[in-house]
Amino acid sequence: MSKPTNAIVIGAGIAGLCAARALADRFAEVTVVDRDRLPDEPSTRRGTPQSAHAHGLLISGRRALEELFPGLGDELIAAGAVLLDSAGDLLVHREGRFWPRFPVGLDILSVSRPLLEHTIRRRVLALPHLTVRSGAAVSGLLPAADGVGGVRLDSGERLPAELVVDCSGRNTRSDRWLAELGFPAPAQEEVRIHTEYATRVYPRAPGDADGAKAVLISPVAPHETLTGIAWPLEGDRWIISVVGVHNSLGSYEDSLGKLPVPLLGDLTARAEPLTDVTVHKYPASRRRHFDKLRKLPSGYATAGDAFCSFNPVYGQGMACAALHALALGRLLDGHPGAPAGFAREFYTEIARISATPWRFSTGADLAYPETKGRRPRGGALLTPYLTRLNRAAVTDPEVRRLWLEVQHLLRPAGDLFRPGAVLRVLRGGR
Ligand SMILES: Cc1cc2nc3c(=O)[nH]c(=O)nc-3n(C[C@H](O)[C@H](O)[C@H](O)COP(=O)(O)OP(=O)(O)OC[C@H]3O[C@@H](n4cnc5c(N)ncnc54)[C@H](O)[C@@H]3O)c2cc1C
Repeated sequence: MSKPTNAIVIGAGIAGLCAARALADRFAEVTVVDRDRLPDEPSTRRGTPQSAHAHGLLISGRRALEELFPGLGDELIAAGAVLLDSAGDLLVHREGRFWPRFPVGLDILSVSRPLLEHTIRRRVLALPHLTVRSGAAVSGLLPAADGVGGVRLDSGERLPAELVVDCSGRNTRSDRWLAELGFPAPAQEEVRIHTEYATRVYPRAPGDADGAKAVLISPVAPHETLTGIAWPLEGDRWIISVVGVHNSLGSYEDSLGKLPVPLLGDLTARAEPLTDVTVHKYPASRRRHFDKLRKLPSGYATAGDAFCSFNPVYGQGMACAALHALALGRLLDGHPGAPAGFAREFYTEIARISATPWRFSTGADLAYPETKGRRPRGGALLTPYLTRLNRAAVTDPEVRRLWLEVQHLLRPAGDLFRPGAVLRVLRGGR
């Protein structure tokens, strides 16, 4: 059977590149449109200001990217990315103590967000029958019977398509574009946390951070509001971010000084920074309930941050973007060309993928009384259990591994409540 003709992806961020990869095997022609002039080298750009900040990639995200782009991990490691054991090499400080380090065999790949995006963009650009239109902003959607039939660029040019996938990020204009075609906007849910990042890059030397490869200084709500993060980057560098919620971030140096341990402050005081301080504000986690819309336009789907954007401090966005793309490919195999009915199945699936990370990140954020958002049922029971789980994970390797596997979306959250796990948590979490 010949392939359906053409698909368009709006946005060449991580979600758009992953979606393009999935579409390339299933459509005769794929066009990716981004309003930025995309650089030829790894660098930050206007459309992805977050790329100047620490980006951790969940292990599920690393595996999903590897499925989409085989050999990606090795390519990144050859370019200087660092592989680190998520319990043996990551130094965690929480509740007044450093957690003992022991290997659990769950490896995280640490790389700068610009190098990650650059590497997968190069892979996407090399795909046959795929075009990237750089410096072209989408300003609307073209109508088709019962749905969307392509995009309109701000130059006035019209690009018809059988399927349009919106990956234009958390500030997508698609509600307005869909309204212009007579389709209702999805309900939006927000959890307002007012996260703010301040970040600087430093040289990295062996023996830094007591020999750990990465550092996480994790706050306990509601009395602590600052997180300290140091990830190793290619080129023997650290990216060091300090993150505050509810407008608690002061200057970079002051905020590092307010962390409960001086580790990151000492690290930054010893070395000359390689960049200026960059700041980014993130007001609210936001998900858009396309999965609950009664009337869905055909020929149209949305993925990545445009569907669900999480408080970034939990590091879930890129993994979900890659998992959304795998789901896109899988479902298109059952519904070639994305006929009517495809969108509903797709949204149901990606809503399922995003539900657990949404519950964990917003659940943690709602532990601050200032956080505005819907408090889920059962939260009052869950929070004390997770507190005990965190305590048990300090010394019990089995609990640490289980908790990491759930956080990295490698197994269902329900596994935390199996009798064996509950017993260990209650025993170890006193
Ligand atoms: C400060 C910060 C730190 C983060 N840290 C992490 C982390 O540690 N781990 C993690 O997994 N995630 C993290 N994230 C989230 C992560 O960056 C995103 O979830 C992920 O990259 C997926 O984004 P996206 O591709 O959906 O959207 P974006 O990255 O926002 O990309 C959208 C693209 O669409 C383009 N675009 C927008 N409008 C138009 C238009 N009209 N026409 C054409 N093109 C358009 C933009 O130029 C851009 O290229 C962080 C986010 C922030 C803000």
